[in-house]
Amino acid sequence: MEKRQLGNTDMMVTVVSFGGIPIITRDYELSIRTARRAYELGINYYDTARAYNTSEEKIGDALKDVRDKVFYATKTHLRSKTEAERHIQESLKNLRTSYIDLYQIHSVDDIPTLDRVMSKDGALAALEEAQKKGYIRYIGITGHRAEVLIEAINRYPFATVMSPLNFLEQSHAANLLPLCRERDIGFIVMKPFAGGSLVTADKDVQALVGAKSSGEMAKLSVKFALSFPGVSCVIPGLGNPQEVEEAVQAGEEFGALTEEEKQIFEKLKTILVEPFCRGCGYCLPCPQSIDIPAILRALLYATRFNLMDRARNMYAQQAVKADACVECGVCEQRCPYKLPIREMLKSAREVLTQC
Ligand code: SF4
Ligand code: SF4
Repeated sequence: MEKRQLGNTDMMVTVVSFGGIPIITRDYELSIRTARRAYELGINYYDTARAYNTSEEKIGDALKDVRDKVFYATKTHLRSKTEAERHIQESLKNLRTSYIDLYQIHSVDDIPTLDRVMSKDGALAALEEAQKKGYIRYIGITGHRAEVLIEAINRYPFATVMSPLNFLEQSHAANLLPLCRERDIGFIVMKPFAGGSLVTADKDVQALVGAKSSGEMAKLSVKFALSFPGVSCVIPGLGNPQEVEEAVQAGEEFGALTEEEKQIFEKLKTILVEPFCRGCGYCLPCPQSIDIPAILRALLYATRFNLMDRARNMYAQQAVKADACVECGVCEQRCPYKLPIREMLKSAREVLTQC
């Protein structure tokens, strides 16, 4: 697979690399096999985070004998220097390594948060110290809002920026991406599947948009993201060896989108209108144990794909239903898309429990 230089770092990374979110919910053995399969097929860049539960440990265990052949990128979502120092030490231990290639400040989505992490006792100070001590090699930032990330790179020479770029979220491409390219900052694409991650595995939905298989959806999403000049790599979330194989195939065969392929995205765009849940899981855990992405996915199936029976079935399988929500609002503070989750759960209850 093609490798690209990650900005002005010394890292040559595979254009399709490994997103470590899905293995959070996979068992240990499957997670190890998944990360290992990625390595066997040539993927050399692994993205994880302290917020991804056991993801760091699983990647660390899967690749400990080949540590010097791969790059590790992880992140802290905590904002103070003391907390970030603790996270760096935890990441080193979990990843079974003495150094981390790229440490990122995670999900900086507004200016007050940027101010906080860049303050004297903010997380960035911990990363700079760790870099001087050799614990981390490069410092990056991640977020979902182009205007905030532009402000971040104007204030500090981050080595990399990670941001969504997909058929639904292209605003970054218009302004942030050219700036990164001009300044030789690595641009890592998260969520290349967008809402597609919710639908790629579903045959009914594939049929609705005219795609032939989940592999084709993965391939199109990768092709789409890599078609923007300045993109260093995409990190689709990979949760089993088959997904790894499909992603690697997409990375080996990417090229310009055909007219027919563009039509699939156009169709999806007309269906996936806001607000809708991307299934990223950042809103979890809910203190009431509501599986928010699962319920919002059922809502999506009902209201956007008109697959009512499927949607009701999905909802019926939930051990904790939407009516358990006590409206504490914690999930909405965590959701990078600022979705009105409480209102959406009320809709789910109304739409999915009707006879
Ligand atoms: S608002 Fe409802 S769904 Fe969200 S965290 Fe609180 S109880 Fe859970
Ligand atoms: S509600 Fe928001 S945070 Fe939760 S899974 Fe959906 S998009 Fe992600």
